[in-house]
Amino acid sequence: MGVEASNSRRLWELGKSTERMGIDRRRFIGTTMAAGIGLGAGVRACPVPRGRAAAVQTGRSPDIVVVGAGTFGLWTALHLQRLGARVTVIDAYGPANSRSTSGGETRGVRTSYGDREHGLHWTRWAGQAIERWTEWDELGRDRLLPRVFFTTGDLIMREETSQYIEQTRAQWDTVGTPYELLTADEIEYRWPWIRFDNLGIALYEPAAGVVRARRALESVAQVFEDEGGTIQIGRASIGVRDGRSLQSVTVEGGDSLRGDITLFACGPWFPKEFPSLMANRIRISIGHVFYFALPPGDTRFAFPNMPSYGVPGCTGWPALPPDHRGFRVRTGGRPGDDPDTSDRWIPPESHERPRQVLERHFPDLVGAAINETRACHYESSVTRNFIIDHHPDLDNVWLLGGGSAEAFKFGPVLGEYIAKRVLDMDDEPELAEGFALTDEEFGARGR
Ligand SMILES: Cc1cc2nc3c(=O)[nH]c(=O)nc-3n(C[C@H](O)[C@H](O)[C@H](O)COP(=O)(O)OP(=O)(O)OC[C@H]3O[C@@H](n4cnc5c(N)ncnc54)[C@H](O)[C@@H]3O)c2cc1C
Repeated sequence: MGVEASNSRRLWELGKSTERMGIDRRRFIGTTMAAGIGLGAGVRACPVPRGRAAAVQTGRSPDIVVVGAGTFGLWTALHLQRLGARVTVIDAYGPANSRSTSGGETRGVRTSYGDREHGLHWTRWAGQAIERWTEWDELGRDRLLPRVFFTTGDLIMREETSQYIEQTRAQWDTVGTPYELLTADEIEYRWPWIRFDNLGIALYEPAAGVVRARRALESVAQVFEDEGGTIQIGRASIGVRDGRSLQSVTVEGGDSLRGDITLFACGPWFPKEFPSLMANRIRISIGHVFYFALPPGDTRFAFPNMPSYGVPGCTGWPALPPDHRGFRVRTGGRPGDDPDTSDRWIPPESHERPRQVLERHFPDLVGAAINETRACHYESSVTRNFIIDHHPDLDNVWLLGGGSAEAFKFGPVLGEYIAKRVLDMDDEPELAEGFALTDEEFGARGR
């Protein structure tokens, strides 16, 4: 499915002219995909119109408690509810709060996973997620939800080819994901404000995009509540047990909650909430994100004139409408800390690295002011895959997390998959093993 630069120029020009004519770029890509170069068949849309019966009732409706209103918890809660469960979500601070990993301003949505053992599966799911985000916006318009997904395209730039590049291309070829291999001339032609002359290889994925993360989860929370769900603020922990069954969840300073099933989706709090089980199975560190100011009136580094990008050690993307918070640069960060008490500012000594990225790749932004920064925890699993499994000692408790720096984009797909598993409606049983909570811990296998 890869397209050489010269063959793709026409498609590119057509896409740009639809932008200029005011035609939505997402619709353009959707149209070209329908014409035969698209992603696989989509799965269901997300917000259902107001007033329509949302849930498909199958037998008795279970009561389910979901602890954690990040991308894992909220999307799962919404899908559980639509499948007929009565769902209460409880979060210590609230949906998309600024201490959570899902509470960042933006998250990238790309399908390039040549660096993961389970990369082929993630490539497939990420492709489905792109369709779901697009549908979410289309249906959300009727409910006056803010637009959250922007099809920016994603440009991976490297000095030379590598296992990651080759494996990503192989996976894209297998799945049928459209992509282009671009030359330096082509990059210069499309985005003259990107400095590529010190690099050697570029892969472009036109359907990739960026999601306004915090707004997206606020919208999911709103839809969940509109459709009958309950969201409560409180810190929850394992409460009364009866053998291998959890009878209730303890809420700090409040009434306990009873559920037939309880899901813990605690993100970087897992090692703190379940120390003996998770301290060595989830590793947390802090990532640093910078949003640089654009020169007044300069739209080159804003959507739709700039793709999201990846260069060694850094990813980022254009400023997004409507508020154009800034040109995003994410660099490494610092060791993890207690997610309840860690400071979320970025010390000045860590400002040097993103400025080097500007200097090397986006020289017209050298000296740009920092509009804002975000520091948040990653929560990585040993396998770098998600954890979706029963608690080893409690049959009616599930543990959901291990996003490994990538889970936000998968929310709409993950939520449905998890909801079906929890309700014994799993139609992809072959996937479960990959998400198992294994005995493996950090320290083994040199991880
Ligand atoms: C800098 C950075 C960049 C990233 N970039 C991307 C990207 O480009 N694309 C992408 O897809 N992903 C990206 N990720 C990863 C993605 O954001 C995470 O994988 C995902 O958001 C994790 O969601 P979660 O639901 O597991 O955790 P969280 O969002 O942290 O949610 C956990 C929630 O549980 C609550 N909680 C915890 N314990 C309790 C308790 N005991 N009682 C009540 N509530 C509790 C917390 O308050 C929190 O709201 C990035 C992450 C970081 C840090």
